[in-house]
Amino acid sequence: APAPPPARHLFSDPAEVEALRRNLLAWYDRCKRDLPWRTLAATEPDADRRGYAVWVSEIMLQQTQVATVIHYYNRWMQKWPTLQALAQASLEEVNELWAGLGYYSRGKRLQEAARKVVSELAGRMPRTAEDLQKLLPGVGRYTAGAIASISYGQATGVVDGNVIRVLCRLRCIGADSSSPAVIDRLWDMANVLVDRSRPGDFNQALMELGATVCVPKSPLCRECPVKQHCQAWHRKLFGKAPPVPDVEDCGAGDCPLCPPATEPWDSSLGVTNFPRKAAKKPPRVMRTATCVLERRGCHGAPEYLIVQRPSSGLLAGLWEFPSLPLAQDLQEEKEREELADHLQAWMGQPVAAKGLQFIGEVIHIFSHIHQTYVVYSLYLDGDVTLDPALSPSRWVTEDEFHASAVSTAMKKV
Ligand code: SF4
Repeated sequence: APAPPPARHLFSDPAEVEALRRNLLAWYDRCKRDLPWRTLAATEPDADRRGYAVWVSEIMLQQTQVATVIHYYNRWMQKWPTLQALAQASLEEVNELWAGLGYYSRGKRLQEAARKVVSELAGRMPRTAEDLQKLLPGVGRYTAGAIASISYGQATGVVDGNVIRVLCRLRCIGADSSSPAVIDRLWDMANVLVDRSRPGDFNQALMELGATVCVPKSPLCRECPVKQHCQAWHRKLFGKAPPVPDVEDCGAGDCPLCPPATEPWDSSLGVTNFPRKAAKKPPRVMRTATCVLERRGCHGAPEYLIVQRPSSGLLAGLWEFPSLPLAQDLQEEKEREELADHLQAWMGQPVAAKGLQFIGEVIHIFSHIHQTYVVYSLYLDGDVTLDPALSPSRWVTEDEFHASAVSTAMKKV
C-alpha cells in the first residue's frame, strides 16, 4: 500500500473541517451567483428533472465559461425540458443548438445517454455518483459527483479545475496537480470536506470560490471566507506554512505533495505558487485549405455549399465549406492545385486551380490543435451536380448557414 500522505497536507482536525464548512457555506449563501440551473435544482420537486438540469449544465460547463453557457442552457431547456424530449431529438438538431459552444462530442454523448436512460433505465436517472458514472456514457467522476450531490443530496465530493486550485492552495500542495497521485489525494480531501447535510451547496461553494475569489492569477485572499484555513495565504503573510500540532514538517525534497526541491517556493508568486502543473504538450499544428463555393440561388440571393463532416472524430457531424487538410510547408501553387483536385472529384467537373480566389487565412485554436484555414472562394456560373456517394452536402443562404450546425471556426471563415 502507498504510504499515507503527510498530515500537513490533509484536513485531519474535525474542528477545522467544521469551521471551514460553516464559513464557506455562509459565504455561499451571501454571495452565490444566480444561475438558471441552480434555481431549477433548488426549486424543482421532481428528482429526475433536477438531475437532468444539473447534468445538462455540468456537461455544458466543461471547458466553457459560465457567461457563455447561460444562453445555450436556457435555449436547450426550452427546447428539451426533459430527458424524454431530448431522447427524441435528432443529432442534427442537437448539433445545431450546440453550434458555437465547442467540444461537440459533448452534445452528442448527452443525447445518446438520454436515449439510454429512456430505453434501458425506464426514464429514471441513476441516483448515486457510482451508478451515474457506470451507467451514463460521457459522465465521468466529476460530473457524476456533481449530479449526485446537487440533485440527490449524496454526500460525495467533487474535483474540477477550480477545486484543484483551491485545495492545492489551502494545503500547499505543490507537486504536479495533474498527476494521478495528487488527483487521488484531492478526491480523498474533497470527500472528507464535503458537508454532510448540504453536500450540493458545499460543492458548488467550493467551485464558486475557485471561480470568483481564488482565481488563477490574482486571487482575492483578503476577501476569502476560508483564508484562516489557507496554508498558502499563511505562508505568504509569514514566510512559512502554519505549524500543524503533532505533525513534523515535511522532509526536504522527499514529500510527494510538496513542490519539487528543484522548484521551491517563490516568494514573488505568493499563493499562486500553487497549484503547479507539468508543462503542457504544445498543440499540433495543422493547415487546411477550404473553399467557399458560391452560386446565385433561385431567388437571386447568393448561396454557399456546405458539406457534412464524418460522424466521428474532430467536429463530428458538423457542416463546413469543402475542406482539405494540407501537408506542412506546401507551396501556395501546390495548395491551390490540391484543393482544385479535391473540388473536382467532388463536383465531377474540371476546376481550374487559377480560378480559385485566395481570400486570406483564418487561425482557430482548438484545445490541442493550432489550425490555420487557407480560405479560397469560387463563384459557380452553371449548376453543379454533386456526387451523392460523397458526404452529404447542401446549398445554404447566409442566414441558413448561421442557423446550421457549423463550428465557430467555419463562422470565422
Ligand atoms: Fe485561495 Fe487566497 Fe482563499 Fe487561500 S486565502 S483559498 S489562496 S483566495
